[in-house]
Amino acid sequence: MPGGTGAAGGGAGLLSEDDRLFAGIELGGTKAIALIVRGRRILASARFPTGQPEQTLGVIGDRLEAWQAEHGRPEALGIASFGPVGLDRSRADYGHITSTPKPGWQGTDLVGHFRKRFGLPIGFDTDVAGAALAEHRWGAARGCDVAIYITIGTGIGGGVIVNGEPLHGLIHPELGHLRVRRTAGDDFAGVCPFHGDCLEGLASGPALGARAGMDGAAIPDDHPVWDRVAAELAEAMAMLMLTLSPRRILIGGGVFQHRQGVLARVRARTAERLNGYVAGVGEAELAGIIMPPALGDRAGPLGAIALAYRSS
Ligand code: ADP
Ligand code: ZN
Repeated sequence: MPGGTGAAGGGAGLLSEDDRLFAGIELGGTKAIALIVRGRRILASARFPTGQPEQTLGVIGDRLEAWQAEHGRPEALGIASFGPVGLDRSRADYGHITSTPKPGWQGTDLVGHFRKRFGLPIGFDTDVAGAALAEHRWGAARGCDVAIYITIGTGIGGGVIVNGEPLHGLIHPELGHLRVRRTAGDDFAGVCPFHGDCLEGLASGPALGARAGMDGAAIPDDHPVWDRVAAELAEAMAMLMLTLSPRRILIGGGVFQHRQGVLARVRARTAERLNGYVAGVGEAELAGIIMPPALGDRAGPLGAIALAYRSS
């Protein structure tokens, strides 16, 4: 996504055929992206740092209001948020951020805030469910009855689409907090404040930084930490193949965006763990299952738009 505001023609060909106006907000732990689209065109998008809730939601709302004055009233607003979030409409915490460790954001009523300010229908889900939905609608998961989108960035999260709908139950999947087997001799304690060495605690950007002693982006591709991380991610991939039987697992987020070689190692290790048990799925077939998202870094913001579509 481009920074700042401006027409972003990059959406051409990605969005739906029709000419309706929709707005979206992807709220991430470090940044938020708001956008407004008409039919196939992203009319404008803007990026904001995620600060304190009242101030952050206020400036996003101001921008949406300015776009509304310029382009007209959207049919609906989609909000794709970092989690955990409340998704059960019968509960008082519907539309809220719930047990996040992010200071100040616990209990923030996102849907209530924007409903009060704009009075629009609102589609709401996790950022990763939104991205999964966008990939299912416009990207690499088109036509897949079961598809998973995982982001590996500041944290690790995963959204699951089953028959075109995000999988919800008691709450929503929290794939980033699965516990995986470690490689021999690895005693890194992990950085997850809840679980220590869960997947997020071992393989998120901050975990990689702590393990390698340098910023994640600076770690060379041949650094030994990648072998451990590829093996840990393969544990998670194998678990997901065995529990949910996905046709795609799309891996997005900053950590893997420029790491296709590591992704190939993840596939190879996943094939070893499955050991031929899932019929017809070896390393070659996994290349068509464990893939980068087709929408790239637009999966998140377009996820918010995909959620807006579902509300109306
Ligand atoms: P967010 O999770 O906040 O939405 P990103 O998905 O961009 O943001 O992830 C940010 C994290 O990814 C940071 O911890 C950063 O160090 C790490 N990161 C960014 N680029 C790379 C890279 N090329 N290789 C490894 N880690 C990276
Ligand atoms: Zn955890």
